[in-house]
Amino acid sequence: MNLVETEKISELRKRLMKAGKVVITSHVHPDGDAVGSATAMLSYLTEHLGREAVVVLPDEVPAHLRFVVPEGLRSRVRWGVEAAADALREADLVLAEDFNEFSRTEDLRVYFQDFKGPRILIDHHVGPDTAAFDLVFSETEISSTCELLYWILTEMSGTGSLPETCRDALLTGMTTDTNNFANSVFPTTLEMASALLSAGVDRDRILENLYQKGRENRLRLLGHLLSERLTITPEGAAIMILRAADRDRFGILEGETEGFVNMPLTIDKVRISGFFKEEDGILRVSLRSKKPLSSRALAVKAFHGGGHEQAAGGKVLVPEDIPDLDAAPEYLLGIFKDYLK
Ligand code: 5GP
Ligand code: MN
Repeated sequence: MNLVETEKISELRKRLMKAGKVVITSHVHPDGDAVGSATAMLSYLTEHLGREAVVVLPDEVPAHLRFVVPEGLRSRVRWGVEAAADALREADLVLAEDFNEFSRTEDLRVYFQDFKGPRILIDHHVGPDTAAFDLVFSETEISSTCELLYWILTEMSGTGSLPETCRDALLTGMTTDTNNFANSVFPTTLEMASALLSAGVDRDRILENLYQKGRENRLRLLGHLLSERLTITPEGAAIMILRAADRDRFGILEGETEGFVNMPLTIDKVRISGFFKEEDGILRVSLRSKKPLSSRALAVKAFHGGGHEQAAGGKVLVPEDIPDLDAAPEYLLGIFKDYLK
């Protein structure tokens, strides 16, 4: 597999070996690919290359993804502005993974922008902010950041094998970003999966942790949303809104609504699905669409966001977009109607 130029990998290796302390980061509301790629890099740096490294995320690792970070590495995975400020004060190198511009780290953005040392990007989103980085690994025809990192680390380590934690984390992130091999699967994705299974990754353990350890409340909320809060328009848009009152009534935790946005796409006439979650007075947006309809174009056009062609996200801002959240249903209907006309 020759997905990444060898010279760039030598350059990356040189920089990693030179840096005393490395800070690895990823995007807000870290998903499987963010936690997976950050943990894989942390494991590789500390366990394989013997470097000093920490992960600093904008938000805590959600409960259902904590299994990715083994006990021995937990103290090296931190979150929040104080952790970022502390870590960056001593850092020699920043590794950014699974986002294309520092605005995706939200409150941590200023710390990374003020950081004086080199920054490296490893990502699979369209349109990386290349000016913000000294070295960029950006590949969009690929399943996930975890897959890109797999090919980079495999090339970098030559015949040496990747640490177990690294391998598990990489397969986890690729699995969640492809929705368990349903979307964005390329020939290289299956090659990676095959190689990792041959190397002994326990995929059953990963699948059990990802898909069989949820709480009852999560499924009850999904049922409630599907029966009471889902609107399907004649043009083929599905709109589902989760307000804070419903979230609290079901006691829903961070990350527990992941995957809800995919459900309406099982309906024949639905071409695009939007899941809108109230959070700190605004709506966080998740979009998924069937080919050839673009989620990304709508996220950019209407929701101050971005992402991939079939999976994107953004925000509905109050009061910039709507006066208050009660105005959301009508506002969203208008947006989708306009987009699908
Ligand atoms: P999700 O719906 O899983 O939160 O996000 C789907 C995709 O959209 C991810 O690739 C994510 O990076 C991207 N995305 C989500 N929210 C935002 C956002 O606010 N801004 C941008 N640029 N991309 C986003
Ligand atoms: Mn990703």
